[in-house]
Amino acid sequence: MQFYIMTLFPDMVMNGLSTSITGRAMEKELLQIEAVNIRDYAFNKHNSVDDYPYGGGAGMLMQAEPVFQAYSAIKEKAGRTPRVVYMSPQGRTFDQEMAEEFAKEEELVLLCGHYEGIDERVLEEIVTDYVSIGDYVLTGGELPAMVVVDTVSRLVPGVLHNDVSAEFDSFQDSLLEYPQYSRPEIWHGKQVPPVLLSGHHANVEKWRREQSVIRTARNRPDLLEKAELDEKEKELARAILGSEYKDHIL
Ligand code: SAM
Repeated sequence: MQFYIMTLFPDMVMNGLSTSITGRAMEKELLQIEAVNIRDYAFNKHNSVDDYPYGGGAGMLMQAEPVFQAYSAIKEKAGRTPRVVYMSPQGRTFDQEMAEEFAKEEELVLLCGHYEGIDERVLEEIVTDYVSIGDYVLTGGELPAMVVVDTVSRLVPGVLHNDVSAEFDSFQDSLLEYPQYSRPEIWHGKQVPPVLLSGHHANVEKWRREQSVIRTARNRPDLLEKAELDEKEKELARAILGSEYKDHIL
């Protein structure tokens, strides 16, 4: 899968994403990640890409033309009109479902704003999706773009060593993942749950599923609205849920 990240800070995104799993996936050519420096498309001799907002107000705004030129170069390279995601606190909140949808694309362009954001007119022309990583404001779109690339990348076949590990992660069935343990069997006096040492695969799966339901009911009861639970699992969740959730979620 090919990612283009439109940014004023290409080193920031490339340094982060060339590390660990995404870095190895790039070496194996399962992922291509290119940071496109918007400043390369500045059209004045000072190489500046920002200006004062009309109407006044604090801060500077990224100008439309350099962003548009950077986008046009990517479009020409891709040979078609790509999906362009503007990282913005005003967008739809990013989640696992959106990551799965993005993972179906052959290429994805992520546009990072800075300062007070980007001139609205170029957003209207090129952006297909507005995506936020949460209800808080960062200084730039680089960290949000890295969050999206990292999350989508682990869904690209071959990027994780073991395809099963993405399948059982938190959120995959609208449930959080069960607790996990590694060696030693006893640490700080705490014993690994005996069922995990039993070698009985079906019992292990049953225990894990129950733990997922319990965890989700305790930590993220809102997720249970979408989870598919059988009667016994609903009973388990009801025993944990407060009255505000019990009635309308289960
Ligand atoms: N004035 C803008 C507003 O209120 O919507 C915020 C601008 S913010 C300081 C600069 C850039 O950071 C934005 O253009 C966006 O690309 C990025 N950004 C900030 N918070 C974000 C968030 N929660 N999710 C995604 N991108 C964010």
